[in-house]
Amino acid sequence: MEYKLPEDLANLSELHETSLLEVLTARFKQNRIYTYIGDILVAVNPFKYLSIYERDVSEQYKCHDKRSLPPHVFAVADRAYQSMLGRLSTGPKNQCIVISGESGAGKTESTKLLLRHIMELCKANSQLEQQILQVCNSHDIEAFGNAQTVMNDNSSRFGKYIQLRFHNSSVKGAKINEYLLEKSRVVHQDDGEQNFHIFYFMLAGISAEDKEMYGLLDPRRYRYLNGRFGQEDGVQIWRSKYSDVCNAMDMVGFEEQEKVDMMTILAGILSLGNIAFETTDSDVLRVTEASRGWLKATAGQFGVQEEDLLKSLTCTTSVTRGEAIQRLHNQQQAEDARDSIAKVAYGRVFGWIVSKINELLAPQVDADVELNEIGILDIFGFENFAVNRFEQLCINLANEQLQYFFNHHIFLMEQKEYKQEGIEWETIVYKDNKPILDLFLTKPIGILSLLDEQSAFPQATDRDFVDKLNSKFKTAPNFEVVRSHTPLFTIVHYAGKVQYNGSGFLEKNRDTIPANIRELFINSVTPLLSVLFAATISRTGTLMPRKAKLQVSEDNFNSTRKQSVGAQFKHSLAVLMEKMFVASPHFVRCIKPNRSKQPDVLDSQLVMDQLRYNGLLETIRIRRDGFSWRPTFTEFVERYNILLVKPNLPLDKESCVTILNSTELSGWKCGLSRLFFKYWHQEELARLLERMGRA
Ligand code: ATP
Ligand code: MG
Repeated sequence: MEYKLPEDLANLSELHETSLLEVLTARFKQNRIYTYIGDILVAVNPFKYLSIYERDVSEQYKCHDKRSLPPHVFAVADRAYQSMLGRLSTGPKNQCIVISGESGAGKTESTKLLLRHIMELCKANSQLEQQILQVCNSHDIEAFGNAQTVMNDNSSRFGKYIQLRFHNSSVKGAKINEYLLEKSRVVHQDDGEQNFHIFYFMLAGISAEDKEMYGLLDPRRYRYLNGRFGQEDGVQIWRSKYSDVCNAMDMVGFEEQEKVDMMTILAGILSLGNIAFETTDSDVLRVTEASRGWLKATAGQFGVQEEDLLKSLTCTTSVTRGEAIQRLHNQQQAEDARDSIAKVAYGRVFGWIVSKINELLAPQVDADVELNEIGILDIFGFENFAVNRFEQLCINLANEQLQYFFNHHIFLMEQKEYKQEGIEWETIVYKDNKPILDLFLTKPIGILSLLDEQSAFPQATDRDFVDKLNSKFKTAPNFEVVRSHTPLFTIVHYAGKVQYNGSGFLEKNRDTIPANIRELFINSVTPLLSVLFAATISRTGTLMPRKAKLQVSEDNFNSTRKQSVGAQFKHSLAVLMEKMFVASPHFVRCIKPNRSKQPDVLDSQLVMDQLRYNGLLETIRIRRDGFSWRPTFTEFVERYNILLVKPNLPLDKESCVTILNSTELSGWKCGLSRLFFKYWHQEELARLLERMGRA
């Protein structure tokens, strides 16, 4: 038989790791995947279809009282929407929903459900709502930005913040901000992983005629796809996904020529990957005999001259004092040049798609119309792999920043209420991660600025960078020196220790496109390619595409600015935080129940680890150290006047104090409208009541 389980863990009298885990596990077994901790929603991925997202359910969650229905992600959407309209509180009108959790925990699915419900709430059946749902939810962006990984068959390889803009209750537009696309996936995937979905969708779904036009060959021949291509049923699915992508692109308003260009560029990237180099006995670098055909094909697909392409692969041109100096590559350098062309081309295409979508969804309102906003943040969770690289460093920094935001909010709320109620409180001690943020971000000697400093020296190596870190931070509390030939260092994050491998940091941080490669693409006869690389930032900061027809909006093209990846990321994080700190936040913490993506299986250790680094145990501690139980005077007297054996006490402050003074309870506080108790007080009072009953 099913028994009633608590829906809000903040109300549990016993608050510790095991009780939390027990309740979550028991609820999960009953398919109750959502649970509150106060105003935070915990969502455990069911890995199976649950009939809790149907239309009738979403109807119920429209403008409802939170406590009247079971916890649900729709309730979070509803609360954000009602708060934006000023119906729930007097707080800021702008809202942000922060979704966190590790890969495969269900962040993107939650984002989709939130969006769906919010669009449902402001339903006017406009075309815009449909477009927002279509575009933000599915095919287009996911095809280009998601991939199959060991952790998740549809893993987002970029972070995103979706801003929904409203005027009063109706939606007026939306904007997608993307962060840190994992471009390295284009040229390399670990075992059991795949390249971005779009390559497979395209190869499976394209017509024979188009295949020929784009110069595509047997998918198993492409090195960037690892020579692997799906089983027959996989191919079936990809085929239908390809037609979804094409439909989505039509809806976004891509022109025919743009679509053709885009597919041709993707085909070019695949051919490029097959170009191999060799060094002859006389030490001359050349393209292998077998890959001459690929060179020719790539040049055709990129719309550039074969000799020019070859040149940009085999040498670097730098301009010193007005003189162009050519440096010949060795084999490794040629391979690196090849891969960096592929990465940069893919990255530009992705950025361009996002900017096209943002153009379509931009609010069409007069400048003086006041717009409010609900932002939804779906960003990669904390990562700690066998080898952690520059990407992990950035991702983990983002998570530190979010944790800081979370702490700040939880404490702020807590302290604000005490203040309003005029009670004294001892400052609650919590694990403040500000020192770790400072270690990364402080000027002039945070990790990121040291990295920039080293990146500016062409001769500096990753070893030099790590040596600098070691000498600057050897005594810093969150930094640990690692003695090794490999340039390793350890950072003690709020979620645990992570050892980073500094190899490749400088190059990844610089992410510069050599002048000759840029030149190559600017001169491409493929209009899209030429525009993507010709886009430059003017002195006023506006982007100036060379060709007016293919307009590109500024925001997604900051990468053309001569700024390091680290500095750009730091900047976009700062912008995001600025927005979030002035909004009312809502938190959804996603939990992955097992590593094998199985329904109905919950691995306790895995869940416990996530509760820990999601900061949930910390939250519970806050609730425990703070005054978690806050009954009003009326509620208290009605329930406990029996302790004084005086039935008709007035329902006021004095009565409360009289009752409490008759007990041996200590540590409680009396506010202006309610009492403040520690979590254990409730139990003690219950024991007293029980004793009374027995007497
Ligand atoms: P990543 O960080 O890798 O992008 P993620 O946290 O975004 O991971 P999702 O892609 O949202 O994870 O979820 C992974 C998979 O889990 C989904 O493809 C889906 O199969 C399943 N899943 C997630 N949430 C739900 C849900 N509410 N109901 C049913 N299945 C779900
Ligand atoms: Mg995702």
